[in-house]
This record gives sequence, structure tokens and C-alpha cells, in this order.
Amino acid sequence: MASTEVNEPGLSAESKELLGAVKKFAEEDVRPAGIELDRLDNPEDVIAEGSIFWAVHDKYRQLGIGGIQMDPSMDAQEKALLNARISETLGWGDAGLAVSLGVAGFQRFFAPMTGDPELIQRFASPDSTAIGCWAVTEPDHGSDSLAFSEEHFADPEIKANCVAKQDGDEWVINGQKSAWVSNGTIADVASLFCTIEGDGGFRKGGVAVVPLDLPGVSKGKTLDKLGQRPLPQGEIYFDNVRIPSKWMAVGQDGYPFTIEMVLAMANAFMGSTFSGLARAAFELALDYAKERVQGGVAIIEHQSVKGRLFNMFRKVEAATSLSRRTHLIGSVAGVAPPVQFSIASKTFCTQTAFEVASDALQIFGGNGLTREYPIEKILRDARASMIEDGCNEVLSIVGSSKL
Ligand SMILES: Cc1cc2nc3c(=O)[nH]c(=O)nc-3n(C[C@H](O)[C@H](O)[C@H](O)COP(=O)(O)OP(=O)(O)OC[C@H]3O[C@@H](n4cnc5c(N)ncnc54)[C@H](O)[C@@H]3O)c2cc1C
Repeated sequence: MASTEVNEPGLSAESKELLGAVKKFAEEDVRPAGIELDRLDNPEDVIAEGSIFWAVHDKYRQLGIGGIQMDPSMDAQEKALLNARISETLGWGDAGLAVSLGVAGFQRFFAPMTGDPELIQRFASPDSTAIGCWAVTEPDHGSDSLAFSEEHFADPEIKANCVAKQDGDEWVINGQKSAWVSNGTIADVASLFCTIEGDGGFRKGGVAVVPLDLPGVSKGKTLDKLGQRPLPQGEIYFDNVRIPSKWMAVGQDGYPFTIEMVLAMANAFMGSTFSGLARAAFELALDYAKERVQGGVAIIEHQSVKGRLFNMFRKVEAATSLSRRTHLIGSVAGVAPPVQFSIASKTFCTQTAFEVASDALQIFGGNGLTREYPIEKILRDARASMIEDGCNEVLSIVGSSKL
């Protein structure tokens, strides 16, 4: 397969070696597994014992990518660029699996904030194999729970589906998170973004680290959906679930800042993951156009196909540049890039991924519509990204509040 990546500056020999290992993993493991898992009729089979899904998670852990975040010796800019390029590469392999692998480490950020050595050891130590999730969306609140810049965010009349209440030195959690929680059906621990009982609305929320083997926790079935089918998603229910006070890693005062920062981090990673998907679609179309003969010549010889391919190429390059720059801005800004930059990257790269995948399908002609070729799956995966981690329209409203 054609590779359209160039040797860009900014990475040490060691980082390049790691990135090479990630590319090999994406090509030899992630992409074939994604195709196999996408074809399963029953989404429960994705996470069944013996499924290739688990082998992908195991191999990812062995690559030691999680350790990069903890490495204080690595230059911050190089770390940012390496992070961007790793998520691009995984998105190039399979976007749904890339999201599952990325979100699996979510608790590593919040568990240390609890100050509880046992919880930290269990969920954030280098050898922890726990799988995490980001549980924010609720059945009645998708955009509502993310659009922190809007008036409704502080409206006490809008009632959350998942609420924590203080009871002595414990929190009691009741309610549910929606079927859209990535890794929801397999997670060992949730970074739970919940509302705290009172009259502060979503703004007065909190982030609790909740082990999902506690009494009162139950899970739904794996969601059956159009795109990113290798990514298991499902509800988490809380019935009088009790946690010690200190496991509420972020309280009401810190919540507005935290939701903004987490959205900024997540959207930066979404940008790079889907610029990677866009590149995959482009490369597949380029290869096909060189092989498919019509009118006695390879279709790449036809002017309109040539023009379409170049149009795809420039969009992929623009998405790649923007998503890498966003991570670099984050390395100077602190924990995450300013949210409007991350949102610009997420909305642009996911839109680009969808457009490039659609153009790729056109180049494949009728073959593009069949499940024998990888393009229809890539198009479905890209389509989901325009809703994932916030609908692009709503994210744009949040981003513009910062201009
Ligand atoms: C692949 C995937 C992975 C996901 N992973 C996670 C996860 O890990 N954790 C998690 O908690 N959630 C996750 N989600 C959920 C995702 O964040 C929500 O789907 C998203 O926020 C939109 O919410 P909704 O689906 O309820 O749509 P709604 O909020 O109901 O929106 C429906 C429509 O109304 C529009 N709309 C809503 N409000 C406004 C407004 N104020 N102005 C203009 N238009 C508006 C939207 O743009 C959209 O077109 C995931 C979703 C997908 C698709």
C-alpha cells in the first residue's frame, strides 16, 4: 500500500522507533482486527472471551505507550507531537479500536487526584491493566452535558439522569449514563462526570473515580450501531453506589474548568485520530486508482480522478497539520490546548475524514459500496466521528464562545 507520510522534523530517533512499532501494530494487528470485528453481526461478540479485541488491547499495553505521559524526561513539545502521531497512526489502522485504546487510560488522569494510594495503585500504576471509560453522556443529556458555555448548563430546572449526594464521609450515586459510553460494557473503572445534588445544574457537577465492581453497579448490552463497531459502547447503571468522599476527584468548584479541559484534551485526540482515518481512505483510493483500468488506462490517468485525488490529498495534509499544531499548542499551554483550538481541530478533521472517505468510495465505484472492500466501513466510522465527543454543530457553538 502506498504510504503518503513524509519524514517531518521534531522526533528523536527513539520516538521514531516507537512510532515505527505503532505503525507496524496498526497495520498488522489493528486494521485487520477492526475489519473482522466490524463484520460481527452481534456486537456482544466483539467483547466475547477469545475475541481478537482483547489481543489488540494486550498488544497495545505491551507497546508501553501509556508510559510516555509519565516520562518527565521527554521534551514537552516532542511528547505532544509523538502523542499526536500515535493517535493518527492508530486512527489510520482502525478508528473505533483507536478510541477504545485511548479511552482505556482515562482514569490515569483522575485517580491520582483522589490521593488514595490503593486506588492509585489499582488504576493508575504503570502495570495496571484496568480498562477505563469517560462516562458523561446521559439518556436525556448529550449536548446538554458538554456545552458548558451555554446558559442551560447552570439551569437547576434541567434534571440530570445521574446524581451524587453527600452522606457523611461518603457519596451515594444514583441513576445512569447512556449507551454511548465508549468501553462502557467492558470498563473496570469509570471517570464519572455526574451532577451533584443541589440547584447548580450541570455546572455544579463533579468527577468521581468509580470502580465498576462496587455493589449497585450494573451494565447494559453492547450497542449495535452504524460505525466504529469494534468500539464497545453501553450503559452504566448506579443504584445507591457508595464511594468514599476522597474518590470524588473533582468537586463542584473545579468542575466547570475540568469539563472544559477534558473536552479540550479529548477533542485534540479526536482531531489526530480522524486525520489518520482520512489518510487511510486517501491511500486506499490512490492505490486503487493506480490498479483499476477503465477505457484502457488506469483510472488515475483520467483528469477528474487525478483532480479528485489531489483535492483529497490537500485536505488530508491540512487536517494532519492542524491536528499536530493543536497538540503542540497544548504543550505550551499546559495540560491541554485552549478548547477553541481543540474544537477547531476536531470539527475540521472529522468533517475532512468524512469527505475524504466519501470521495474514496466514489473512486472505488461500485466496489466501494461492497463489504469486500474496506471503504464503506471507513465511511461509516468517519460518519460517527461527527457526533462523537460532541456533535460538531454544538462544539462549534462552545468554541465560538471563546473567540
Ligand atoms: C462513536 C461515539 C463515541 C462516543 N463516546 C462517548 C464516551 O466515551 N462517553 C460519553 O459519555 N459519551 C460518548 N459519546 C456520546 C456523544 O458525546 C453524544 O452522542 C454527543 O454529545 C451528542 O449527544 P446526543 O447523541 O444525545 O445528541 P443530542 O444532544 O440529542 O443532539 C441531537 C441533535 O441536536 C443538535 N443540537 C443539540 N443541542 C443543540 C444546540 N444547543 N444548538 C444546536 N444544535 C443542537 C445536535 O447537533 C444534534 O444534531 C459517543 C458518541 C459516539 C457517536
